[in-house]
Amino acid sequence: MQRDEQIFSIIRKELERQRRGLELIASENFTSLQVMQAMGNVMTNKYAEGYPGHRYYGGCEMVDQSEQLAIDRAKQIFGVEYVNVQPHSGAQANASVMMAVLKPGDKILGLDLSMGGHLTHGSPVNFSGKLYEPHFYGVNKETGLIEYDKMEQIAKEVRPKLIVCGASAYSREWDYKRIREIADSVNALIMADIAHPAGLIAKGLLDSPFDYCHFVTTTTHKTLRGPRGGMIMIGKDFENPFGIKTPKGEIRKMSSVMDLAVFPGVQGGPLEHVIAAKAVSFLEILSDEYTQYAKQIVKNAQSMSKAFVSKGYQIVSGGTDNHLMLIDLRNKNVTGKKAEQALVKADITVNKNMVPFDDKSAFVTSGIRVGVPAITTRGLTENHMPQIVEWIDELLMDPDNEQKISSVRTAVNQFMQQFPLYPELG
Ligand SMILES: *Cc1c(COP(=O)(O)O)cnc(C)c1O
Repeated sequence: MQRDEQIFSIIRKELERQRRGLELIASENFTSLQVMQAMGNVMTNKYAEGYPGHRYYGGCEMVDQSEQLAIDRAKQIFGVEYVNVQPHSGAQANASVMMAVLKPGDKILGLDLSMGGHLTHGSPVNFSGKLYEPHFYGVNKETGLIEYDKMEQIAKEVRPKLIVCGASAYSREWDYKRIREIADSVNALIMADIAHPAGLIAKGLLDSPFDYCHFVTTTTHKTLRGPRGGMIMIGKDFENPFGIKTPKGEIRKMSSVMDLAVFPGVQGGPLEHVIAAKAVSFLEILSDEYTQYAKQIVKNAQSMSKAFVSKGYQIVSGGTDNHLMLIDLRNKNVTGKKAEQALVKADITVNKNMVPFDDKSAFVTSGIRVGVPAITTRGLTENHMPQIVEWIDELLMDPDNEQKISSVRTAVNQFMQQFPLYPELG
């Protein structure tokens, strides 16, 4: 068959784009070469509906071993009893938990999308907002912090079946204990979606949700630095509270209800090539090198947020406890859209993002979200952060100045040459 030069040349250009730029999208990262090598393998040819040892297809001996390794390593990383590594993405992981514990029309309570929540936490354009009845809590206008009193008040009024915590654009610690008290008072279950800070939680740099939250979902490609995918965890397995029984008439464990929700509930055949790559990334996470990486993420985020504040930028909540920050640009006279455009032209990639109580639409926004996991993987340290903020500030002060954009881009490209990305790829 003819080699697809068209696609391979586009992939090559994508590698070059990744190499020359400053990647500040908080949800992105660069996997190791071995993670990508494991992903591009013959297991993509294999059907393996079911779970290790219990498949609907023959020939699963090898994929059983690699999926089991992925599960065992994830259990070790997070110290949990149950892991399902099959969700194709974070959204599928959340869909599966909801499938396991909710019926259509049931109420859910999550963080407002415009205040940092995720689409899958009840947005009207997402399955979670269409299939279930979504309600939202938010952050305080002055402090930018989650309002737990309001969460409690809404929970008592609405009596949701599921409370969702976790976010895509919230830079502070979560009070899981408090959320559990609220959930217990209304008989709700909790899903903590740690898609963003999972890597910091894995290394004890942020509080662990496992003691308080019934289900924990995550992506594997953000701070965890694995292949694109999702995962579901249960800290301590328990009998499902809905009375769902096994064929033998015993009450099913929640783990078994969850397995059934992922397959056949939400998905078909698992992506065993991606699961192999998940296993590889989990081995990496168990290393001291990754521990150093996670600590460096925190140092870099701290240094970056200080640099922004010293230049008069308003960070929602005043700073960060994790790997990202949400910058409110309303005092800088530039929209999120305009800021994103100017920065991207200079090979500094960020995303525009609504800020709490934003008066602009999701297409324009008043803010940008900035994260450090990817540049930390490139090897940048806390001393480099002020320079990055300097470049960003220059562009945001004068976002239409093409000459300035061009000179910053040249400086960024030169700077990034010190931090080779995939040198093995030539
Ligand atoms: C990124 C993200 C997801 C979804 O992950 P996908 O893999 O893009 O489906 C879910 N929840 C939160 C909080 C996220 O930030």
